[in-house]
Amino acid sequence: MSEFSNPNLEVLISSEEIQQRIKQMGADVARDYAGLNPLLIGVLKGACIFLSDLMRAADIPLGLEFIAISSYGASMRTSGEVRILKDLDVAIEGRHILVVEDIVDTGLTLSYLLANLKSRGAASVKLAALLDKFERREKEVPIDYLGFPIPDKFVVGYGLDFAERYRNLPFIAVVRDPEV
Ligand code: 5GP
Repeated sequence: MSEFSNPNLEVLISSEEIQQRIKQMGADVARDYAGLNPLLIGVLKGACIFLSDLMRAADIPLGLEFIAISSYGASMRTSGEVRILKDLDVAIEGRHILVVEDIVDTGLTLSYLLANLKSRGAASVKLAALLDKFERREKEVPIDYLGFPIPDKFVVGYGLDFAERYRNLPFIAVVRDPEV
């Protein structure tokens, strides 16, 4: 059975639209960071596909790191605290950091992560996000490079999963029936 033409998926943003938008975002990043040798930090796992396309669209010298953070339970949700499961391999003091994330939802994860990275003495910390579910925001998070604002729906594809499935879809989709 084909996964990409699964009738249980409703395409929200096509592969062509994503590629076109990321080309523009990459050009913006290249223009803004020319001569700064930025360090791109991908947030595992969801950002991996967006990150790999974005960095190939940014024609400047840059570095690459990954960080993994826990999804929070009910108690963490109120405190806004997030656990770092895999930390950076390098010090970032004096570096220009561009965090690359798949989606900003409540903003709790990102506001914690951005503050954490700033506290390590980075020269600057900015955020690139493919998707913005702005209606759900609880904590203000400035998105410096945004792919697409989207409605309050649970989306999958292009790195985003539902129970680890659908990350390989080349488009963003809504799952019609999560039970299927
Ligand atoms: P926030 O802290 O902004 O509420 O949560 C961000 C994280 O929640 C994202 O990195 C992602 O892992 C997850 N998330 C939020 N909305 C969605 C969604 O619609 N689909 C998927 N697959 N994950 C989501």
